Amino acid sequence: MKVLVLNSGSSSVKYTFFSMDGEKKLARGIIECIGLPEAYFKHQSAGEEEVKEQCKVSNHLEAIDIIIKNLIDPRHKIINDLSEIDAVGHRIVHGGEKFSKSVMINEEVLQDIRNCFVLAPLHNPHNYTGIEACEKLLAGVPQIAVFDTAFHHTIPDYSYFYALPYSLYQKYNIRRYGFHGTSHHYVAQRAAQLLNKPPDQVNLITCHLGNGCSITAIRNGISVDTSMGFTPLEGLVMGTRCGDIDPAIIIHLLNLEKISADDLNTLLQKKSGLLGISGLTSDMRTILKSAASGSDRARLALDVFCYRVKKYISSYFGVLNGADAIVFTAGIGENSPTIRERSCHGLENLGIRMDLQANNAGGLEERIISAQDSPVKIMVIPTNEELMIARQTLRVLTNN
Ligand code: AMP
Repeated sequence: MKVLVLNSGSSSVKYTFFSMDGEKKLARGIIECIGLPEAYFKHQSAGEEEVKEQCKVSNHLEAIDIIIKNLIDPRHKIINDLSEIDAVGHRIVHGGEKFSKSVMINEEVLQDIRNCFVLAPLHNPHNYTGIEACEKLLAGVPQIAVFDTAFHHTIPDYSYFYALPYSLYQKYNIRRYGFHGTSHHYVAQRAAQLLNKPPDQVNLITCHLGNGCSITAIRNGISVDTSMGFTPLEGLVMGTRCGDIDPAIIIHLLNLEKISADDLNTLLQKKSGLLGISGLTSDMRTILKSAASGSDRARLALDVFCYRVKKYISSYFGVLNGADAIVFTAGIGENSPTIRERSCHGLENLGIRMDLQANNAGGLEERIISAQDSPVKIMVIPTNEELMIARQTLRVLTNN
């Protein structure tokens, strides 16, 4: 059984091709800058060097056509023809209130995904274009939608409700949805394995810290609260997103700066976060270097970032009445000992004690970095959203 996993963004399509017998990754790659003269294609077959080529690609249909042609290209020796692609798993950012799990795509599902455009205008339309392209290029191959929001469907109403007039929930479905669900779900399952416990018996705080950042409280294997909300803007400080702010600031800015709604959106989504505070960059590696070499605003960005992570960890510790483990994942969570240390520093009284040597010892593998006697384990678990999407795709296919 071979599964193609696609993540169609605004100007890029990422892909991973799996053989599900043994969950082997056969190929992966990305087409970026779709519609621009500098468009390029990166492809890597298992065990081979990555190749990068310029390409002319004006839309997602052409991008996915290039991807598929590469899979059957005899030079890459991946598959001989398209009939070997058994299913396509699509990452869909927003499933609204409708989708609590992955589903086989049909006309009704397509309509429901379109209905969610209004909830995720920056993501869902592009995800949808990927599905449309596959319907043309791989007619008859089952397509499965895997939603970022689905894992958070278990969040109780007192946690997903905003204290706004109830009519806004009824009229516009305004509530917390949560995102990065595929990643939180994947690392939670791995953490359960590392803890040697059944997945439905673990209490965890999973910290997905990348360009986008979110933290989830997991009780008995299911999500009960998460830091992202109605959109992926709420919660932690991110590369360019502000995370939690007092909503009155928005009114204040509208009055003082006479700023348009579009410009305000750009300010909060693209000019805030690490970039906004430091004035330098949204990239955590550069923030760390700049702070170390004396930039006070990089230092401040770092302080605000780590403090917010620590505040969420502590509050979810209370929500869960304790946890078996804190899990760090994604670009920052997997690679930065400094951020992990600072996010857990001062939580010793909660039973969260780090082994600094284990934290600093590099490595790409899953590992426990808490002290031997720490009641709460601290873990680094590389996320694997693509594999999780492939697994879900296989599960839906098998159940159908
Ligand atoms: P992601 O969105 O998961 O790809 O994560 C991207 C973020 O991870 C960027 O802010 C990178 O600077 C950060 N990152 C990657 N490697 C490191 C590292 N070694 N130390 C600190 N941050 C890192």
